[in-house]
Amino acid sequence: MPPMRSWIESANAPEAEFPLNNLPCGVFSGAGGGPRCGVAIGERILDVAALERDGRLDLPAAGVFAAPAWNAFMALGPAAWADFRATLTALLAEGAAARDWLAPYLVPQDAVRLHLPFAVAEYTDFYASRHHAFNVGAMFRGPGNALPPNWLSIPVGYNGRASSVVVSGTPVRRPWGQIRPADADLPVFAPSRRLDFELELGAVVGQPSEGMVTVAQADAMIFGFVLLNDWSARDIQAWEYQPLGPFQAKATATTISPWIVPKAALEPFRVPTPPRERPLLPYLAEPGPMLYDIALEVALTPAGGGETVISRTNYREMYYSAAQQLCHHTTSGCPMRVGDLLGSGTISGPRRENRGSLLELSWGGREPLALASGETRSFLEDGDTVTLRGWAQGDGYRIGFGACSGTGLPAHAEPAGAGR
Ligand code: CA
Repeated sequence: MPPMRSWIESANAPEAEFPLNNLPCGVFSGAGGGPRCGVAIGERILDVAALERDGRLDLPAAGVFAAPAWNAFMALGPAAWADFRATLTALLAEGAAARDWLAPYLVPQDAVRLHLPFAVAEYTDFYASRHHAFNVGAMFRGPGNALPPNWLSIPVGYNGRASSVVVSGTPVRRPWGQIRPADADLPVFAPSRRLDFELELGAVVGQPSEGMVTVAQADAMIFGFVLLNDWSARDIQAWEYQPLGPFQAKATATTISPWIVPKAALEPFRVPTPPRERPLLPYLAEPGPMLYDIALEVALTPAGGGETVISRTNYREMYYSAAQQLCHHTTSGCPMRVGDLLGSGTISGPRRENRGSLLELSWGGREPLALASGETRSFLEDGDTVTLRGWAQGDGYRIGFGACSGTGLPAHAEPAGAGR
């Protein structure tokens, strides 16, 4: 698909994150109003809440943008999503007559604050990059026992906490937890010393389900995608994860980028999952390409220092797609809801520089990373900022996600009653 040109010039630069081809959905406040829905275009935001209030949008229901979240809009379903996208595309296209009256509805992005773009109904996180699963398994259980026996059959996941999902820019405080020192049999209660990030893509579920859905139906239920950092305390994780998987190690915070990139914007970038190492059960077969070619990178910036890009990878490296994960999630009869968030799992590639977590990049702390500042890192220090970036590269344009960023705060003083 060629780049689509807008009368908003900043949307037409080849490296602009938010060209007319993108139209991602966010929630912003400022510029004369509280939190409300907006669509990013170039360096501006189209105030769609104000457009609806003024009767400028023809939507199939009233009050869709009255709440500062995209859930009510997502609930309208794929036909309404397509109609709305076509309407905005026509309003913002180069030469559109709407230019004369639309200007008051455009807000500069640098004048606003961004919020969570949707109310997170439930949060599920998966474990679906073969490279990541092998690396972590090799460190936790040894290379001969790295990939669990179910891994090539099941999109492995666990139920996370919607309450811990925060928007980019929210500080993340180092957690306390049970940690077993390397030379001890029993744990201590202490602040994590192995705080880490996980580079992931989050799929935003825009339609509900009752009962099992197919992979194709699951794909149609997905509204769009965000970047996702699943902050992880590796020392807490290593002690707690057997037999039921991660719990407190991943409950501190999960940061998402502020713009939901619509699935429609990513259609030209679909790619198939890699060859199956073991045939999948038929219900998980994909009717078409279900991954996307999305370049991803992670930057680490120490307090007062410059940034170092420490990882570069691609969403196409995943073994399971979001549609397969969502299909699998419904096999139990688990009802999915509008606003459910599915984390892809850490996205690691085949080479060291493609690894999507510090645990892998520093190989459990044994190979610290060198930063541009001259410092080294095995795990995160207080004051470190982790920034995820992602974009699908088209011919003369890109579909950007906006940054997904968070800065680490020191652990609280010992919690009351901790009594180590
Ligand atoms: Ca994760």
